[in-house]
Amino acid sequence: MPSELLSQEKKFSEIAPLITPERARLYLEGQLPLYPLFALAAETRERFFGKKVRIHILDNIQNGHCPEDCGYCAQRRGAASGIISYPMKSDEEIFAEAMHAKKAGAYRFCLVSSGTGPSPKTTERLASLIRRIQGELGLRVCLSAGLLDEKKAKILASAGLDRYNHNLNTAEKYYPAICSTHSYADRVATLQALSQAGVGLCSGLIVGLGESIDHIVEVAFALKALRVISIPVNFFLPTPNHAIQNAQTLTPEFCLRVLVVVRLANPDSELRLAAGREVHLRSLQAMALMVANSLFAEGYLNTPGDGFATTLALIRDAGMEAEL
Ligand code: SF4
Repeated sequence: MPSELLSQEKKFSEIAPLITPERARLYLEGQLPLYPLFALAAETRERFFGKKVRIHILDNIQNGHCPEDCGYCAQRRGAASGIISYPMKSDEEIFAEAMHAKKAGAYRFCLVSSGTGPSPKTTERLASLIRRIQGELGLRVCLSAGLLDEKKAKILASAGLDRYNHNLNTAEKYYPAICSTHSYADRVATLQALSQAGVGLCSGLIVGLGESIDHIVEVAFALKALRVISIPVNFFLPTPNHAIQNAQTLTPEFCLRVLVVVRLANPDSELRLAAGREVHLRSLQAMALMVANSLFAEGYLNTPGDGFATTLALIRDAGMEAEL
């Protein structure tokens, strides 16, 4: 049954969420016990994805030099975060890294580029890279390159791109607290352009940016409304000189509750343990995999994370298996 359901992934299932915003709020506040809804989320995960876990590997193809000011990001303008900045890697370097990811057993190779969005010329270059990686390696590609208009979305779709990452990050009301150079509406417009071009949406959130519980609930249901099929849940990893006021201390149990809420609001979406899983979920990572069905290995954009061997051991500890 799970494999049949997996093949339906691109149909944007219309199934109803298994939790209401009000119940989600009570759950995140700790007013409802952990386990009943955790069990429902685990059962839902197993129904749609069985025991499989998808491993994603990020390739930061261009780092730093960003004119945007997302407060959580080490690459934002004037960040003084000590990261190494570089322009877009050569096509050969990116292709070699895709081959490495394929050999390591990655399910998806995620090309991530800093900046507001790609120029028309860069969009064409990315399109030809996507054609080559998918055509020659048969590796699924996800691209994350910032804001797009309809024309650029269509160029990427016609190259065969089936997944684009563009995170909502937080609720609409809280967005001005984390970024001033573009708006939540700009992000939604990019997601809508991609959706119209037929590209599957990957969009997620960052927890720990000083947002309220209502904001987390709002973004979990906003992702449902946008028919997002892949949801990375990031737990904020502060970088030196980050510009986020009131960043919270997260507990592993709270992080687990967030995952339960996102799973139940988006029952058949791929749910990914993203940045910060090692630091914030800690000893509950294996439990988290009973709710989430994918994760990143080998670190994040500018922060190290667990390598492949440790990640595979975690998957085994959870009684799951890597989907190759
Ligand atoms: S998140 Fe993206 S757009 Fe925002 S500052 Fe970082 S690289 Fe730039």
